[in-house]
Amino acid sequence: MRPRPLSRYSRFLASAIIPVLITIGLPADYIYSQSEWDIESPYVSVDWERDGQYKANFHTHTTVGGAGSEPQTVIDRYRELGYGILALTDHDDNSLAEPTWPWEEYGRESKALNMVAIQGNEISEVHHIGSLFSDYGDPDAQSEEEALEEIGRRGGVALFHHPGRYEKGVEWYVEMYRCYDHLIGQEVYNRNDRYPGDRKSWDAILSKLYPERPVWGFASDDMHNLEKDIGISWNVVIVPELTSDMVREALEQGRFFFVNDPTGPVGAPAPVIESITADEAAGSIRIEASGHEYVEWLSEGAVIHRGELLNLAEVPEAGTYVRAEVHGPDGIIIGTQPIQIQHQARQE
Ligand SMILES: [Zn+2]
Repeated sequence: MRPRPLSRYSRFLASAIIPVLITIGLPADYIYSQSEWDIESPYVSVDWERDGQYKANFHTHTTVGGAGSEPQTVIDRYRELGYGILALTDHDDNSLAEPTWPWEEYGRESKALNMVAIQGNEISEVHHIGSLFSDYGDPDAQSEEEALEEIGRRGGVALFHHPGRYEKGVEWYVEMYRCYDHLIGQEVYNRNDRYPGDRKSWDAILSKLYPERPVWGFASDDMHNLEKDIGISWNVVIVPELTSDMVREALEQGRFFFVNDPTGPVGAPAPVIESITADEAAGSIRIEASGHEYVEWLSEGAVIHRGELLNLAEVPEAGTYVRAEVHGPDGIIIGTQPIQIQHQARQE
């Protein structure tokens, strides 16, 4: 628990040098405020008592896209497993190209099932891209840019599927995120962690992009086989009410977690994150959880702390963001989205 040397130094600067500078005539907006930390958490607007946490899968397949089970069977199985939100994202190079949509075509009504159905597709001719809230699909798409532009034009939201399958490199992703606001993130777990490097490359992208813009992490079953691939990787979306608009807003603003459960539906239940609260004056972030074994905090690809409470002054190695992974039994992990941190004397 050693004090952060830089922090002492900044306090010295603030108390000794800034008043002198003001006296000798620097603009008044250089007055130093009490708060040393800016903490921008995507969870800041969550009402932890009242909002609901819903299981969601945004990447799954049916017979329409060449997988083993019919849409209605897939919907029913996810519902049995307690999911509230589901996107059937068949490959757009299937016979239809359009999303497997609406559910009514397969005899299911999302409202009657207490679920949110999301129109979606997996753009499959280039780097696979999840297209959500849009009717887009194009087996002839020539580039990622073409696909992303069209998803945006149709008012959709996009995420990269299993980046570990491609050889794109960090700079390529950074450029894509700079170009497309509606490209909100990428998978960091696909099924049973088929691409274990995907958290490292996510962290590398975050390290380059923060504080410019966030990139959210997703976990997806990418289900093709109903016996083996289901209930392994999902997201927990936090919304006041289970509506399509609220789910979309939660995704855009990062109010969700990603979960990987290697044992699937037969294993122990996943831990629950009960709250995440940031205290800028104290320079700390606290996670409250249940059903977990320990909490790890990461920044720029490295573990920087273990424990529910993170004191930023004690982790000088932290970069422009931190994120937490809550570990449960049987190797289950529930991960938070990145939380932006900045240590500085504020200009007011
Ligand atoms: Zn897929």
